[in-house]
Amino acid sequence: MTIPSDPLARQAQAFSQGAALGKYYLQNLSDRDVAAAPTSRSALDLELPNTGHSADVVLNLMHDAGAPATVATAAGRYFGYVIGGALPAASGARALLSAWDQCANADTGPSVMQMEQTAVRWIVDLLDLPPQTEGAFTTGATMANMTLLATARDTLLTRMGHPRGKGLLGAPNLRVIASAEIHATVLKSLRLIGLGSDHIERVPTDDQGRMRADLLPALDSSCIVLAQAGNVCSGAFDPIGDIANLCQVAGAWLHVDGAFGLWARATPDMAAALAGLDKADSWVVDAHKTLNAPYDSGLALCRHPDEMRASMAIGAAYLPPVDPSPADLIPEFSRAARGAETWAALLSLGRDGLTEMIMGFHRKATRLADALRTEGFTVPHDVHFNQVFVALPATPQHCAKITAEVQASGEAWFGTASWKGQDGFRLSVSNWATSDADIDRLVRAIVTARQKVIQAEAAT
Ligand SMILES: *Cc1c(COP(=O)(O)O)cnc(C)c1O
Repeated sequence: MTIPSDPLARQAQAFSQGAALGKYYLQNLSDRDVAAAPTSRSALDLELPNTGHSADVVLNLMHDAGAPATVATAAGRYFGYVIGGALPAASGARALLSAWDQCANADTGPSVMQMEQTAVRWIVDLLDLPPQTEGAFTTGATMANMTLLATARDTLLTRMGHPRGKGLLGAPNLRVIASAEIHATVLKSLRLIGLGSDHIERVPTDDQGRMRADLLPALDSSCIVLAQAGNVCSGAFDPIGDIANLCQVAGAWLHVDGAFGLWARATPDMAAALAGLDKADSWVVDAHKTLNAPYDSGLALCRHPDEMRASMAIGAAYLPPVDPSPADLIPEFSRAARGAETWAALLSLGRDGLTEMIMGFHRKATRLADALRTEGFTVPHDVHFNQVFVALPATPQHCAKITAEVQASGEAWFGTASWKGQDGFRLSVSNWATSDADIDRLVRAIVTARQKVIQAEAAT
């Protein structure tokens, strides 16, 4: 390949090569095993050469050695964790944004900032949150939770008369109340902001994994209450309206972790399960999971934007006051314009497309659970949204073997899980590319794997 001497022409050439290799990758992904090939990673672990390679050589190596060792999460047969795929417009936007290389700030990227702000406005509206709600994009729900927990901490301490500038030095105690099934990353966020995770008052859950509002301890104005919209095993939503009423009376801060589940609020059939969501103080939702925006993109939303700004604003002397600056709402300073991909995702879907996609996850998860129950598996919860936990109570040891067997078959990918003392496996329907045929193929792969496990046991 001849290399142009002009710097931008060289960048443009590399850009089209990256796009061409990406196109080839996507066009061949559906025939491939879902799991990564184990062999090609070592080719990437080179010694750093003294003389660098051309972009062409670098990209071809990535393609030859890197692509086979990717997990085919972009295709429709990946059901592990809650990963999602990437909608075409969002994926194309990612490519275009890489050429623009904007730093997301009104000074350094006016157009991408507009897209981010518009995306926040759309999401506040889609989720029917209070109109004064503001927010900003983080790397994911973990950082968004951390941002809002820091805001909650500072707000409650200030209300108790403790000056913000003192941080936690000499501060009165705060109480943290959370579901017994709170996501592990929230515990990390609590540790990061200095509240620790040992003193959490845990609230028992019901048989669906929902926090029991009737078992909340007596609340007061020193309490941060952590609710969840979307249990990672059952998909169930905490009774947020009931919890919010108790928090309002006590002056407690209610935070909702809705990393993947908050999107259910945008649908007519699941919104009722999230009634009263608008009464919370802060919310987290990921764009990179259920919305199918590319990684990494989470959103921190707060009904008290002034409090969020008071906790997060940078205010360095050399910085002109830029309004609005996302750096004043979240921890990061220089960062990618990731919200522009969410803007592209939403604009390409429209309201109807979004609702259809989200309800489609629910419908396909229901199809999956029904088919597995027919095959003799146990799904010990209602299908609330897109998550399905599967068990075999008589032979729980088979679940891990079935999981490994399906992973090795290349037909699909999901992981083992343990829920309410039962060992099983967990399936997440969260990729826009997953079809009904993919669901049926998954069920066949699981049934075939179970036959193999039983035969292998009989042979020994
Ligand atoms: C995935 C998830 C998180 C963490 O989100 P990241 O985007 O991976 O940081 C937090 N809470 C819940 C309920 C999740 O599903």
